[in-house]
Amino acid sequence: MPALTLKPGREKSLLRRHPWVFSGAIDRVDGNPAPGATVDLLSSKGEFLARAAYSPHSQIRARAWTFDPSEPVDADFFRRRIASAIRARDTWHLTRDTWHLTPDTWHLTPDTDTLRLIHAESDGLPGLIVDRYADTLVVQFLAAGAEFWRETIADLLLELTGLQNIYERSDADVRELEGLPPRVGPLRGTPPEKLQIADGRLRFWVDIAHGHKTGFYLDQRDNRCRLGALAREREVLDCFCYTGGFTVHALAGGAKSVLSVDSSADALALCRENVALNSSLLPQPSSLITPHSSLNGDVFQLLRKFRDQGRQFDLIILDPPKFAPTAAQTEKAARGYKDINLLAFKLLRSGGLLVTFSCSGGIDAALFQKIIASAALDAGVEAQIVEHLSQGADHPVALNFPEGAYLKGLVCLKV
Ligand code: SAH
Repeated sequence: MPALTLKPGREKSLLRRHPWVFSGAIDRVDGNPAPGATVDLLSSKGEFLARAAYSPHSQIRARAWTFDPSEPVDADFFRRRIASAIRARDTWHLTRDTWHLTPDTWHLTPDTDTLRLIHAESDGLPGLIVDRYADTLVVQFLAAGAEFWRETIADLLLELTGLQNIYERSDADVRELEGLPPRVGPLRGTPPEKLQIADGRLRFWVDIAHGHKTGFYLDQRDNRCRLGALAREREVLDCFCYTGGFTVHALAGGAKSVLSVDSSADALALCRENVALNSSLLPQPSSLITPHSSLNGDVFQLLRKFRDQGRQFDLIILDPPKFAPTAAQTEKAARGYKDINLLAFKLLRSGGLLVTFSCSGGIDAALFQKIIASAALDAGVEAQIVEHLSQGADHPVALNFPEGAYLKGLVCLKV
């Protein structure tokens, strides 16, 4: 077995079972491992620490598969890990059964056919993302190790889910850091490029071939449902609406009106399709189309324009893209978050709600809350946090991998 030997004192994070080893921690590489091959990680004294995937081109030089010296990394290993991730989701589904009891939360039903099945490091499978969209799986191999086991993983996914179609979306930027070229297309069966999913009583079109990430922001599912309940009778502004996840839930929840804004014309077109799709499905309210409008533009500019025009809303959603993928961009990102949140506070009526998110890994929950506080201060408004939001249960955070907690949300009430 090829091996990486760490420098003295650099074994601490592995002993806490954090799965990453950075290039600077490595003293020696023995056995000439290929990219993605399995290596043993050894302390400077030669003790076994973990069995890992080797990423020669990345700063994250190795990602641990297992900390058990007697566990080989083979097809059975992946069968156990994938089965365990799927089992965890089953439990979660049963839990959701108990949720949808009041009319207010009617759309919080357990009958979604769409969820994240494997959440990479947090499910003990570094670099592997698997989302289920109805009968199609969408997979991302984001690190050399996951890429190395691609065919095995694809076969096991079919075996363990009983599904036939897998579409690959290995085109995330992080693959570049691993020295891997982008790859997109069918991986097993004949997956459709665009498909319809059920999210409780609502339906969405998802473009798995061209959409962001694997096509839809599954991590916001619970927050969309929550938003639906908050939107009743309110004039809503959905900023960074993408394909209308929040928009459709707000309309279905009885919003007085929803204005959806995004800089992508394609995303907005699908957003309008999703509004139309649900208008024909939902008996009440009879039409979602009438109170819906959309605007193709830049949120930073548009919020300023609305401020100058004195426009007001009762609920504003801010769900921007990652401003700070890593800690290095934190300061610039903080300015961006503060800017849009400050403007949003100004556009809210008294009693209005700001539902604001950050999915930046470089900004933790405490810093995000500070940014929102300083936005309110500079906007000259008084506001309270009435709810903390995060990613759904199908995007778990392994306790040994705190980086997995990336989505932070606050619901603020303007007093
Ligand atoms: N809320 C959405 C996800 C938002 S993703 C959901 O739940 O599905 C972020 C979106 O912001 C993308 O659709 C992207 O096109 C859009 N975007 C990025 N920069 C923007 C800008 N400056 N102004 C408007 N939209 C922007």
